[in-house]
Amino acid sequence: MGKVTGFMEFPRQEEGYEAPESRKKHYKEFVAHLTDEQAKIQGARCMDCGIPFCNNGCPVNNIIPDFNDLVYKHQWQEAIEVLHSTNNFPEFTGRICPAPCEAACTLGIHELPVGIKSIEHAIIDKAWENGWVAPQVAAVKTGKKVAVVGSGPAGLAAAQQLARAGHDVTVFEKRDRIGGLLRYGIPDFKLDKGLIDRRMKQLEAEGVTFRTGVYIGDADLPKGVGSDAKVKTSPKQLVKDFDAVVITAGSETPRDLPVPGRELEGVYYAMEFLPQQNKVNAGDKLKDQIKVTGKNVVVIGGGDTGSDCVGTSNRQGAKSILQFELLPKPPVQENKSLTWPYWPLKLRTSSSHDEGCEREWSITTKEFRGENGKLKSMVTAEVTWTKDAVTGQMKMNEVPGSEKVIPAEFVFLAMGFTNPVASLLESFGIEKDPRGNAKATTDGTGCYATNVPKVFAAGDVRRGQSLVVWAIREGRQAAREVDVFLMGSSVLPR
Ligand SMILES: Cc1cc2nc3c(=O)[nH]c(=O)nc-3n(C[C@H](O)[C@H](O)[C@H](O)COP(=O)(O)OP(=O)(O)OC[C@H]3O[C@@H](n4cnc5c(N)ncnc54)[C@H](O)[C@@H]3O)c2cc1C
Ligand code: SF4
Repeated sequence: MGKVTGFMEFPRQEEGYEAPESRKKHYKEFVAHLTDEQAKIQGARCMDCGIPFCNNGCPVNNIIPDFNDLVYKHQWQEAIEVLHSTNNFPEFTGRICPAPCEAACTLGIHELPVGIKSIEHAIIDKAWENGWVAPQVAAVKTGKKVAVVGSGPAGLAAAQQLARAGHDVTVFEKRDRIGGLLRYGIPDFKLDKGLIDRRMKQLEAEGVTFRTGVYIGDADLPKGVGSDAKVKTSPKQLVKDFDAVVITAGSETPRDLPVPGRELEGVYYAMEFLPQQNKVNAGDKLKDQIKVTGKNVVVIGGGDTGSDCVGTSNRQGAKSILQFELLPKPPVQENKSLTWPYWPLKLRTSSSHDEGCEREWSITTKEFRGENGKLKSMVTAEVTWTKDAVTGQMKMNEVPGSEKVIPAEFVFLAMGFTNPVASLLESFGIEKDPRGNAKATTDGTGCYATNVPKVFAAGDVRRGQSLVVWAIREGRQAAREVDVFLMGSSVLPR
């Protein structure tokens, strides 16, 4: 522990950022990492708790008190070694993780928690700037071939771990670029795509082969699931050609809103809208980009995806942006004594909301209305939620007379993802769990293995829609299980 009295002396220091009015004019990242001195002070606030709840709250179990202490002592190179020992890609999580570690931080009970995420961000950026992130090429090759289906954070973490264990890894991706939702979901202003390219180069140097534009599957993809594939490969063939296959294909089936007028032009899934802007930012020329400049936009769904639609609509110059959520407004401040060290339900205002957006809760959508096939407005109503006395389940009740007609030329459906693409799992013969995800456990012998011999599953495809940090954890853990399956034992960490 760097400074024993640090937590009493220093307040939490937030990262600096560009003002909303100016950052709305571009798609670049706008958050600056802490300076060395600021990071030192933030590290000094850590109490090096006997039971570090932060470490338990972090899905990859980052060894947080140790790197806090190292940053306090300005031992940055040692700090990145500690950070990389549990997390392959801290530059992603240091930017876009909601930081469950901070919700679990003991200092947060009576003070603002240690700025763990900002320390992580500072460590990894410094490490790249100083050339401390080098490829780790396996000393011995095993001669085993592993296919990874999907190049999101789960696939990339699995591929890197497996390559470092000496296996020959090929990543198949149906999109034209690597990264999964890091590339084609999360906007550039939250995560610069150069960071993915830089990691990709490291993975290539470690022996990973990337094959983009290749769709692994037999059936056509459902509406709302993006693909740039030019080549189709049958799952059965893949299983034949490789010694093991890891499915990290995400949970891509978007939740629909089947109300009258859903078919109108102007009503889109969020994932029809967001990837297009990322492609344009990457220099692609699109024929028919969905553009909301000067239009009234309604975003349905109050989570991360909805907030990204808000940020992108603002940058495109929308006339107005409304965001509706079906559930009631959560409390502004959580009751720490009830929620700590767990993730609290509370009102979350993202940087995209700060850039301009009206938000309403307890609103249901009854109908979309249009003219000549194009969306013009939508009909909403207020709802209340009550607990059913018999089943205990929450029941939605429409408030009589609360109907409103809202002008809207664009509606983005950002209500989450129900499950992975069913046909992908079916074409491999993978058994599903009751929610339609690939069925595999995460503990004990044979974890991450599906019912199909040689085939493993990790990330959103197994756990359902989740977070980047969980995908990294599952990719790492699945890699270890694949290594055990191929070699009988493994030195890869869990
Ligand atoms: C808009 C949006 C914003 C988000 N923001 C955040 C955030 O700020 N912080 C956070 O922690 N999480 C966020 N998430 C969630 C996070 O991105 C996901 O939980 C995470 O990316 C899941 O990783 P994954 O590797 O399991 O799958 P994915 O990232 O979904 O990657 C799966 C990849 O597999 C490919 N694929 C699928 N099927 C096939 C096939 N048959 N053949 C070949 N390739 C295939 C897909 O094209 C995709 O590239 C966000 C999600 C969305 C949609
Ligand atoms: S819980 Fe907070 S104060 Fe305690 S070790 Fe972790 S970061 Fe430091």
